[in-house]
Amino acid sequence: MYLEIGTMGTDVAQLQRDLNFCAYNAGTVDGDFGSQTQEAVLALQAYHGLEPDGIYGDQSDAALMGEIRLVQEALTKNGYHLTIDGAVGSETLAAITVFQKKNGLSVDGIVGNETLKTLDIEIPQAANQIETTLSISKPTPTTPPNGTGNGQLVCINPGHGGSDPGACGNLQEKEMNLVVSLRLGQLLKERGFSVVYTRTDDRWMALSDRPAIANENNADIFVSIHHNGSASPESSGTLVICYPGSTNGLRLARLVLNGLCNRMGLANRGIFQRDDSDVTYSSMPAIITEGLFATSPNDCRFFSNGGAELEAQGILEGILTYFNS
Ligand SMILES: [Zn+2]
Repeated sequence: MYLEIGTMGTDVAQLQRDLNFCAYNAGTVDGDFGSQTQEAVLALQAYHGLEPDGIYGDQSDAALMGEIRLVQEALTKNGYHLTIDGAVGSETLAAITVFQKKNGLSVDGIVGNETLKTLDIEIPQAANQIETTLSISKPTPTTPPNGTGNGQLVCINPGHGGSDPGACGNLQEKEMNLVVSLRLGQLLKERGFSVVYTRTDDRWMALSDRPAIANENNADIFVSIHHNGSASPESSGTLVICYPGSTNGLRLARLVLNGLCNRMGLANRGIFQRDDSDVTYSSMPAIITEGLFATSPNDCRFFSNGGAELEAQGILEGILTYFNS
């Protein structure tokens, strides 16, 4: 088995069906191994402690088929008659859908955490498994940034969540986003800002609901926290995204990027002005931060060893300067 970006055909379609079933989110089943399928394969590899190269080879195949087999076995125990073959066909899909309906789960044909729990399955992870509960240590003390807020409302959006883990390497993006968001909110409140979050726990949310929350609350700025992903584990560094042509959005992006680079000291990848749901549909100055790469082992090590705190401080520094200059 050897499938990689660019491969097309029925094997890829089956792979996409299998990945989607196991909640790795390969997107549309179109038989075309594109970047989303690659991200899903990377997530599978990270979960099982395999080398994250985004190529679907024998080890990845064994890991994914193993997961599906466990689900098929559990369904059989629950009285569904299935062939245990480690591949998702109409029989398996029908069984899981009925099982979800019977057990009051959301009927999506995806075996996410809730369905796994109800089926009483634990998917074994490799020894060098991803950290699911992030333990974040403090960095060496730094001088806190200057300035205070004056009741301005900051809407913070921790990107991804629930069945959508985002970019995954040694850490899961959705968890990194939440850690930094909650810490940033705390720091902002200490400085006299008001804060509203789009989510404060591990839940899935539609992309369009996120800027809508900022708009409904009339936030002064919208800060969407993400972490980057790449097929290459070497990719590292910091960037900030804003909407093309938004003067204040660009000013906020510049100041936050400066703050992040000052505090974290990773490579400065610059500002990207582009059309992206969070910055496009919010009616106030808005940015998306990509503090570092979830797919870089080095960035992840940094993040877990004080980097998360420095990241929150860096964004705080940018926001303070934005409102005080
Ligand atoms: Zn993201």
